Amino acid sequence: MKLAASPLAMVPFVSVDHMMQLVHHIGIEAFMIDLAAEIEADFARWELFDKTPRVASHSNIGVIELMPTSDQTQYGFKYVNGHPKNMKEGLQTVTAFGVLANVDTGYPVLFSEMTMLTALRTAAMSAVATKHLAGPNPRSMAMIGNGAQSEFQCIAQKAVNGIETIRLYDVDSAATTKCAANLADSGLELIICDTPEAAIEGAGIITTATADKNMQTILTDNMVGSGVHINAIGGDCPGKTELHRDIVARSSVFVEYPPQTRIEGELQQMDPDHPATELWQVITGKAKGRQSANEITLFDGVGFAIEDFSALRYVHRKIQNTPYYIDIDLIADPDDPRDLFGMLKRAG
Ligand code: NAD
Repeated sequence: MKLAASPLAMVPFVSVDHMMQLVHHIGIEAFMIDLAAEIEADFARWELFDKTPRVASHSNIGVIELMPTSDQTQYGFKYVNGHPKNMKEGLQTVTAFGVLANVDTGYPVLFSEMTMLTALRTAAMSAVATKHLAGPNPRSMAMIGNGAQSEFQCIAQKAVNGIETIRLYDVDSAATTKCAANLADSGLELIICDTPEAAIEGAGIITTATADKNMQTILTDNMVGSGVHINAIGGDCPGKTELHRDIVARSSVFVEYPPQTRIEGELQQMDPDHPATELWQVITGKAKGRQSANEITLFDGVGFAIEDFSALRYVHRKIQNTPYYIDIDLIADPDDPRDLFGMLKRAG
């Protein structure tokens, strides 16, 4: 009669510490390249997935969300919060953890931290969007909002798209100083800017990752020149946007999953039928991406469950035969499946 857990009941758990060791083991640029490829491959089989806008519980200071999806073989979900006021209290704006499970048994096969992994996958996602939408050979990116996500965004753009120069701006210069120090040995040329106008000057790509639970206008229409590609990833819940609506009106808009983006993204400022192209269709050649050198392309990124699924699957594969996880006794799995109570009794 079983007292200890069976191997099936043991679930690999990746802690924050193990996730960081895994990233160092693989190398952060290689990790970004692999993860971008994983996301691209899953976007190419988009139609297979169960899709739903994430389930959000809003308060006036933040949001707590569940993000589920399945490709019919595996199922994944992420728990994630977004609390812009946290940073001033010494807490993360975004924290997350997630689970990957087998559809045939329903048993989890991975339980992982996802605060680090969300920053990595969000950056890989921006890099994928940029790869498919930016003009030819952009070498310089403006990074507006230099908080927790920012370094990841910069490194992914270097690794995946060959970006060489980053122009940094944040309303809080301490954030820019931190970001520049963290990227000092990245091989990127860093230019610290005093205004958002200076940051976007000459940049072929603009990435905004600011946090404020408000309709902000980080960029106004007159600031944005023709031909740029914008990744607007900071506006990701109702009442929280970054761009003036005139920029959205002037851009070709690309999104992950329209039913979610129309609630959460820059698109919430526009009419419900404002044109938006799904990025998976660009990746598979079903829809056109950028069509002219002068066009402004806007990736209105809010973060979708399939990106987390891709990230969890990648991590699950990469931890095999490594010391970067522990097995935890997560599933009650009695020898006789009907004798759950007997298992409890014997444990006494
Ligand atoms: P953070 O709080 O660590 O950093 C945000 C930074 O934005 C801060 O340094 C702040 O000073 C700066 N900022 C605020 N207003 C600004 C302005 N007007 N101009 C310039 N800078 C400004 O937050 P984070 O973890 O880096 O996340 C940034 C945003 O990205 C959040 O809103 C978060 O919800 C969002 N996010 C989106 C995704 C996605 O998939 N799209 C994933 C993760 C996080």
